[in-house]
This record gives sequence, structure tokens and C-alpha cells, in this order.
Amino acid sequence: MFDCIIVGAGPAGSTAAYHLSNQGRSVLLLEKKSFPRYKPCGGGVSPAIQQWFDFDLTPVVDNKVNRVRFTWKKGDPVETELDTTEPFWMVQRDVFDNFLVEKAVEAGSELQDNSEVTAVQISNDIASVTTSKGKFDARYLIAADGASGAMANWLGFKEAKQFLGAVLEVETAVAPAERNTAKFEFGSLKNGLLWCFPKSNGYSLSAGIIRGGKGKVKDLEKQLTNYASELGINLSQSQFYNYPMNLWSSERQLHQNNALLVGETAGIADPLIAEGIRPAILSGVKAAEAIVKALAGDRNALAGYTDTINSEIGSDLVLAQRLSGLFFQFPGIAYRVGVKRPYAGKMMSRILCGELRYADITDMAMQRLKSSLIPGRG
Ligand SMILES: Cc1cc2nc3c(=O)[nH]c(=O)nc-3n(C[C@H](O)[C@H](O)[C@H](O)COP(=O)(O)OP(=O)(O)OC[C@H]3O[C@@H](n4cnc5c(N)ncnc54)[C@H](O)[C@@H]3O)c2cc1C
Repeated sequence: MFDCIIVGAGPAGSTAAYHLSNQGRSVLLLEKKSFPRYKPCGGGVSPAIQQWFDFDLTPVVDNKVNRVRFTWKKGDPVETELDTTEPFWMVQRDVFDNFLVEKAVEAGSELQDNSEVTAVQISNDIASVTTSKGKFDARYLIAADGASGAMANWLGFKEAKQFLGAVLEVETAVAPAERNTAKFEFGSLKNGLLWCFPKSNGYSLSAGIIRGGKGKVKDLEKQLTNYASELGINLSQSQFYNYPMNLWSSERQLHQNNALLVGETAGIADPLIAEGIRPAILSGVKAAEAIVKALAGDRNALAGYTDTINSEIGSDLVLAQRLSGLFFQFPGIAYRVGVKRPYAGKMMSRILCGELRYADITDMAMQRLKSSLIPGRG
């Protein structure tokens, strides 16, 4: 019997595995794909994640960005230099995710990849997990199977709010002048945004619908292709992927019996800019802390995890959701008032790099957006 079984070896699952193993706990990390595996994602990560690891992450930072360019309907640009302590990181998800899994294994976790979990049962405080390769038991269970997984549903949790995302991965030469600029495009995609991140060997162009209905895959593909052409990117070596996104909407329960939800399984992703890697990692850290306490006999540890996530991450993501609601309802005005002004772009960039929280800017941003909607004051 393991102390903990973790289902899903994305950033949330591997982080929890690493921290549990580091504390001497026995961990089985189950993953349906063969690692290294690609996960459709822009791969932009806040360098703030370094604080949660005692090993250096820079070997898997593919590129660093210190300039952000925002556009409205492919025009009306505004550029801002990042004046953050560390530039914004770009990672290749196959490499980055595999690195975290390797660290978890080095710390003592047992990895079974190519092992799809097909059923889960909890009785008498034991979690039994059935995979394509056998059945395993543990005292605690972490569901980290992401936005495409079924664990939250099987365990009886309320489902997270799901939207649609897509990526166009392009392999091409990147001009030195383009290497350090991340681009965000508003106004082309209804109820969502497009973003283009430069990598060492090309670009990851992403599209995310983050409000209203889920959206259509074909529309996202068309938008991304148009966006790439507009940016002059050669698409002769490109691959399109679509993937669901579970974004945060409101406070929710993330523990039940001896199970916890982490990362996108729990809907812990930013509903304004679809950032999910940093919150997934933080939730993995907090889940490991809670399970270490629970294994030591603390009966309130798992409930404490729900409280911690809601107060430390969820409360800020609720503010992001409020901003997102207003932003995508009046995107043209919001772009002019909320992005185009130099200080606004700088603030968004500092949020990206994890140096500002939504709590620091929401009141002012909402006031400015609302007052610009009053006739005569816009
Ligand atoms: C188009 C798009 C662009 C994005 N761009 C960014 C970005 O630039 N920056 C950012 O921070 N975030 C971005 N995100 C969000 C980010 O990709 C996710 O939030 C992040 O991957 C969540 O990590 P996770 O560990 O929770 O889940 P995942 O990374 O999805 O990992 C879940 C793992 O569980 C495995 N799994 C699923 N079912 C089973 C099963 N039954 N048995 C065993 N294993 C299973 C999967 O194979 C997968 O490896 C983007 C998302 C999309 C869709």
C-alpha cells in the first residue's frame, strides 16, 4: 500500500509527487501517456515557480521574454518592457513536464506511465485505483488528471467550468528581434484571446475561449492560422492541437474522504489569461503539505487544503474572473482603458511574472473600466 497515489503526471501531479517523496512518503505516480509527452499549451511560465523547488529549473527554460506586445484586432499596438526581477519564462511542455517527473522519481516516487486509470474506489479510508496494468491501493489519493480527465467526476466532485483552447505549434527560425517578445491579441476571437510565444525553435500560438460557451475547434484553427499569417510566420512545419481548459469560477470544495483535487482537475487556472502552470504547481505543493500532515494524524489537514487554495489562490482568481467578465463584455473599451495605457500593460506583465496579484489592481481597474462606460467619461 502506498501513502499516496497521484493520477496524472502534469505539473500539478509531479510537483505533489516530488514534495511528498522528499518528505519520505511512498508515492505512486500514474500517467496514461508515455513520458516525455506533449501537452497542448503556450508554455509561458512565471519565474515565480522557482520558489517552490529546491533544484534549479533553468535547464528547462527554453527562452526568456522581457517585452510584451498587445494588439487590438491585429492593430493598435502597445508594447511594454518587463521591469520585473526575472523575465517571463518560455518552456516546451514535453521537456518541462518530463524534468519535473524525473525529479519526482529521483526523490523516490514510483512512476508508471503508459498506465491509464480506468476506475477509482474509496472505502474504509483506502483508495483503490484500477489501471490498464493492475490495481493499486493507497491511504491518500491526488487527482491531477487535468482538464481532459475524469477523476473529479468519478470521485463525485462538482465539475469545473470548462472552456476550449487550441495551439498551433510552429517550427521555424525566429529572428533575434522577435525572440524576446510575447504577443497578446484581443478583439479577433470573440470571448477570448490569442497569444504568440516565441521559443528557441519556433512559436507556440494559442487561442483560448474564456467566457460564454465553449467555442468551436474549427473557429480556433482558423483564427490561429490567420494570426500566424498576420505575424508573417511560415506555417510549412506546423501542428494544430485543441484541448479543454478548466478555469476557476468560484470557491469550491477540493477534498473529499481521503482524496484531493489539484491543478486543472480542480479548475485552478486563471479565467482572464488562461495561466495554469503556476497555479497547478502551487496546488501540488499545498496538496503534498496537506497529505504529509494527514499522514501524521491531522484530521483537518485535507479540509485545510481546500481552505488554503480558496484563500491563497481562489480568492485572487475570483477577482480575475470579475475582470474577465467586464473585459470580454466590452473588449474594445477594456483594451483602450485596461491594456493600452502604459501603466496597465506594465501591470498585466507583472501579473504574468507573478510579481503582482489581482487583489493589488482589481479595484482600480474595475473603477476605470466602469467609469469609461459612463457616457461622456469614456
Ligand atoms: C491552448 C492552451 C494554452 C495554454 N497556455 C498556457 C500558458 O502559456 N501558460 C500557462 O501557465 N498555462 C497555459 N495553459 C494551461 C496549462 O496548460 C494547464 O493549466 C496545465 O497543464 C495544468 O497542469 P495539470 O498538471 O493540472 O494538468 P495537465 O498538464 O493537463 O496534466 C494532466 C495529466 O494527467 C494525465 N491523465 C489524464 N487522464 C488520465 C488517466 N485516466 N490516467 C492517468 N493519467 C491521466 C494526462 O495525460 C496529463 O499528462 C494553456 C492551456 C491551453 C489549453
